[in-house]
Amino acid sequence: MARYLGPRCRLCRREGMKLFLKGERCHTDKCALERRNYPPGQHGRTRRPRLIGYGLQLREKQKVKRIYGILERQFRIYFERASRMPGPTGENLLILLERRLDNVVYRMGWGTSRAQARQLVRHGHILVNGRKVNIPSYLVSPGEVIEVKEKSRQNPAILAARDATAHQPVPSWLEVDREALKGRVLSLPKREELVQIPINERLIVELYSK
Ligand code: SF4
Repeated sequence: MARYLGPRCRLCRREGMKLFLKGERCHTDKCALERRNYPPGQHGRTRRPRLIGYGLQLREKQKVKRIYGILERQFRIYFERASRMPGPTGENLLILLERRLDNVVYRMGWGTSRAQARQLVRHGHILVNGRKVNIPSYLVSPGEVIEVKEKSRQNPAILAARDATAHQPVPSWLEVDREALKGRVLSLPKREELVQIPINERLIVELYSK
């Protein structure tokens, strides 16, 4: 699947909030939003328009896509799948996104950002139930064991990420042994623990239901 390759800080500046797309840098004063808290582009310094209706819905959708590093087509597929599941579509959508393997690797603290976690998966460092899975969009299920493969356990990037994320709480639906670089999915994700950034998923449902 394709992914966005342009400047990531630009995405945060567009949304007007930190989306934490660059790992450790996001927690320092090098964060672009600390320095240039206005939208990118020629007219960025002019007044930020007040959003209503479609504008609000669009920004909410873009924000979620950007947090999880997903482009429109794939996001739409997630939405359609979420709408066929029992329960509120918006919540289902966020739960599906949260179950992505790259997100789980990020949540377990083996990557400082979802982009880094995605790369670990793509490069074959991650095993699911003892088998290599190099598909970032793989959806984990309760009971599955996720681990860094043995040969990669001394990988300096993974160890550095683990140390850098030691302060981050692990969601209650996951269990992680940080030393062994091994974890387990205990249950499906819980809505209240999904993202650190406020999201109103109902706006996305409204947008796609037009
Ligand atoms: Fe966003 Fe991180 Fe860049 Fe700050 S440093 S603008 S939070 S990606």
